[in-house]
Amino acid sequence: MFDNLLEIKGLGPLLRSPWPWRLVRLAGLLVLLAMTAYGWHHHAIPGVEVADPLMYTNFASYFFWVLWMMGVVFLALLMGRAWCTVCPLGWINGLIARLGLNRPLPSWLDNFVPVTLALIALQLAVYFLAIHRFPDYTAALLALMLLLAVGAGLIFRKRSFCTLFCPAGAVFGLYARVAPFQLRVRDGEVCNACESKNCVSGAPLQKRLTLGSAVLTWQGHRADCPADLVLAGIEESATCSLCLHCVQNCDNDNIVLGRRPWLADLGRGGLRPSETLFFLVLLGMVTANFSKVYVDLREVIFWAPQQAAVLLGWASGGYYLLTALWVALVFPLLLLLPGYLVLRLGELQVETLPVSSSAPPAPAAAAPHRSGFWNTLGELALPLIPMVLSAHVVLAVVKLNAKGGYLPFVMADPSGVKSYLAISVMNTVAAPGVLIPLDILKWLALALLIGGYLLALAGTRRAAASLGGEKVKTYLLAAMVPVTLVAAIYGSTLFTWLFIR
Ligand code: SF4
Ligand code: SF4
Repeated sequence: MFDNLLEIKGLGPLLRSPWPWRLVRLAGLLVLLAMTAYGWHHHAIPGVEVADPLMYTNFASYFFWVLWMMGVVFLALLMGRAWCTVCPLGWINGLIARLGLNRPLPSWLDNFVPVTLALIALQLAVYFLAIHRFPDYTAALLALMLLLAVGAGLIFRKRSFCTLFCPAGAVFGLYARVAPFQLRVRDGEVCNACESKNCVSGAPLQKRLTLGSAVLTWQGHRADCPADLVLAGIEESATCSLCLHCVQNCDNDNIVLGRRPWLADLGRGGLRPSETLFFLVLLGMVTANFSKVYVDLREVIFWAPQQAAVLLGWASGGYYLLTALWVALVFPLLLLLPGYLVLRLGELQVETLPVSSSAPPAPAAAAPHRSGFWNTLGELALPLIPMVLSAHVVLAVVKLNAKGGYLPFVMADPSGVKSYLAISVMNTVAAPGVLIPLDILKWLALALLIGGYLLALAGTRRAAASLGGEKVKTYLLAAMVPVTLVAAIYGSTLFTWLFIR
């Protein structure tokens, strides 16, 4: 049934038409503007001692940090970059780009370094300002993102905002390698024979409106591929933003959007160096965030920046800076380091040479070609993607389970002030409880983590098979080390967090 969603009755026509998606993106934009408006000027409640009373009752902070941040993880698990299909920011950016200067993105910006910096900046904003706890800060972030989407569109061609400023798209791109759905061409030969290549170029078309004898004709515009992808050559889902423009433009009905095996993209070579850097930051943040509920482990993880801050005599500001750098770069590198060392040790060659007093020993055989540091890390990172994804899903399940009950309050009182006062000050309304009892939730979370670990092990085999040659066995061992290390961190945290209470 899911072999090709485009052929499902009812759903197929919806996917092929641009209008439903335009309406959904417009609705998304209205929600984004509503979040900005309802969050603006709402920081705290005068007379209430709690510093962040509106965290779960205000429309902006609740919708963005709880519903959106956590909800999209489930979408990414199944469909990779499916959020990008409806994302209002990418849409606005692409629309504005049609009117702007249309400059190509310089090659030094066309990589994952800008979004990595954006992700680190977001983490710093969380550490320094607790931006996720305050509606006004959240609103300012959303307004800034909207401004950047418009500004980038005015200067650069196509969806440059996604490449430059959107860590979410980069995260979804990583998860798209695991997801069991993909967009591909049905028959590469049809693409080779196609002269128009409308899927990429979005050639103009004539549109005609008739009403009785009145006929109106005008030149229409087909939206082109924002990523300049040649569809017949797509091997990985990470770069395709699932905007569906090609589905709507292909005159040969040669595109398939359907299921595939899990992990399908993990056997196609490692991450590129700048994407590896992004992945490291994500790995560090998810792992540190996940483990912070396990006090002993948290102290181990944050021991180094704490000690460094004490040694340097830095106050909390300096500590946060050191912690952000530690969590984003050093800590995840340490997680991958054992695997890297195993790979390098696997290259050791011991030879037995005949002892001869007269002839010098024969020269050593030429060393096999070896990947550079970042390429090797990119190969080791691949099987960790399902592990990080499973931890991300567990965090999302726990958060939505704990805070999902606030939704009716947020809808009834978007500013969140009355709801907070009723729940926490006057106690006239009971605080919303969890959606699923803890006894069920903990087993669900455990099953998700075990699923992630099994997928990661399967991913290790798949990635190893793609390397081929002598490297396979060493890679298998090397990649399993960080996967198991990270699984142990997540597993022990889950155990102390939900099973020992
Ligand atoms: S990459 Fe980001 S901004 Fe672009 S469409 Fe996807 S979620 Fe939206
Ligand atoms: S291939 Fe290009 S046009 Fe087609 S869905 Fe992906 S990003 Fe959009």
